[in-house]
Amino acid sequence: MEDKKLICAECAAEFIFTAGEQEFYNEKGFQEPKKCKSCRDAFKAAKRNKNYQN
Ligand SMILES: [Zn+2]
Repeated sequence: MEDKKLICAECAAEFIFTAGEQEFYNEKGFQEPKKCKSCRDAFKAAKRNKNYQN
């Protein structure tokens, strides 16, 4: 498997979906990521904050 270049759906930045990540996603049966790591981290952080407030 090779590293794959994807475009983030959120900020349109190019990011690398590495071979290792692809393997992990395949194993778990996940779809390939639509967002770059920083957008995903921001989303996770926002979710955490929201849960914390609730
Ligand atoms: Zn992004």
